[in-house]
Amino acid sequence: MRIVFIGPPGAGKGTQAERMIEKYRLAHLSTGDMLRAARDAQTAVGKKAETYMAGGKLVPDEIIIEIIRERLAEPDCQGGYLLDGFPRTIAQAEALDRMLADKGTPLGAVLELNVPEDELFRRLAGRGRADDAPEVIRQRLVAYREQTSPLLDYYRQSGLLKTIDGLGTVEEIFQRVESVLDRLAS
Ligand code: ADP
Repeated sequence: MRIVFIGPPGAGKGTQAERMIEKYRLAHLSTGDMLRAARDAQTAVGKKAETYMAGGKLVPDEIIIEIIRERLAEPDCQGGYLLDGFPRTIAQAEALDRMLADKGTPLGAVLELNVPEDELFRRLAGRGRADDAPEVIRQRLVAYREQTSPLLDYYRQSGLLKTIDGLGTVEEIFQRVESVLDRLAS
């Protein structure tokens, strides 16, 4: 199963992603985690990415596309994966489509975790990561609205989009996720 998981910052994607990879035995490809690790290790990529991350901006497409290209070639991806935080722009989605077409491994679904913006801001304000300062939060929500939300139409048109209501308990939301993924797996 190859799944893309899309949702604004604060939607609770991380929590649901952990459950999904465990239940469905998927490799977890979180570009946020990969970039934070690169930044902390001060690799060449990490040094390039850190200014963008600190400002709540997206890192340039070329950087992130290369990271994903290399990651998808690793053996643990052959059994299926969850793309978490990628793609985040139309250019990234188009690059992904080309990579997967070349491999002959199409996506099974694109899950959108949907949470209204006022609720997101409330949740993020109470979280306290270094890039969670109010101005940076605002910037990340702007990046989502302007650069990532156009992907919803992109994937709706290809028939892959499944929208999941992100309000409720972790358990309630995971049941909604399961009802989509159990159908795909069968
Ligand atoms: P969030 O908590 O906002 O969902 P992530 O943990 O997924 O954020 O990512 C943190 C930061 O890493 C983003 O604000 C952005 O700077 C960068 N980043 C992660 N994934 C991508 C991507 N696919 N394209 C560009 N930048 C990305």
